[in-house]
Amino acid sequence: MLSNIRVVLVGTSHPGNIGSTARAMKTMGLSTLYLAEPRVQPDGHSIALAAGASDILKHAVIVDSVAEAIADCSLVIATSARSRTLDWPMLEPREAGEKLVASALEGPVAIVFGRENNGLTNEELQKCDYHVAIPANPEYTSLNLAQAVQIICYEARVAHLEHEKRELDKGRSVDYVEEKIEYPFAKERENFFEHLESTLLGTGFIVKQHPGQVMTKLRRLFSRARLERQEMNILRGMLTSIDKKMPPKDDKQA
Ligand code: SAH
Repeated sequence: MLSNIRVVLVGTSHPGNIGSTARAMKTMGLSTLYLAEPRVQPDGHSIALAAGASDILKHAVIVDSVAEAIADCSLVIATSARSRTLDWPMLEPREAGEKLVASALEGPVAIVFGRENNGLTNEELQKCDYHVAIPANPEYTSLNLAQAVQIICYEARVAHLEHEKRELDKGRSVDYVEEKIEYPFAKERENFFEHLESTLLGTGFIVKQHPGQVMTKLRRLFSRARLERQEMNILRGMLTSIDKKMPPKDDKQA
């Protein structure tokens, strides 16, 4: 289950941090590392700091963007030293660990870490379901990247151990029935938001030249609601029914 929890480092510029991240992950039982648009490749320094965890570096997946790193994930949590720059659904590190472990039972999930100098961009943060800030000293909130990874991976481990304990107890109870909820992958969510925007442009609710903050606010609303796959499909069906009622596009105006 822990191997379904993907650690995504974005735009990392210090090879040592990549190595220390691998070590932080392995001590907590995580193994899947993605490097999105890294500014450096893992090198000898990374291997030295990874200590016995260089297998994680060897298998690290390098991709061009956060979107690519999270496309097939049903839950994506971003980390940020700044807790409230964007008013997004927030989690405590403990809750983040619990949610990651619960969703990892069904497939890949991701926890995303930003650049050493300036974290994640607003656009990247908005691609994530939740944000988590480690409650550090308010006068000095910014942890070293790999140390932030260590804390979140520790929380995932604590949640994993709790889960194992509960499973053991459940095994002893005869009348337990589990309810399964499926959440859409990040890629499906992006498709939904594209569809929503296109329909709202079509109805004239959003004006192309003055889009304002509508899409950001709607993204935040749907993140807060944490749509299940079935619910998202209903909404897509509703959008399609609106699209069908729209007059055909006039090419001259488009
Ligand atoms: N100056 C940057 C800090 C980057 S620290 C900023 O203001 O965002 C590099 C990364 O470590 C962050 O992007 C985040 O992923 C993680 N990190 C550091 N401190 C953190 C904290 N208090 N809570 C959550 N993540 C943190």
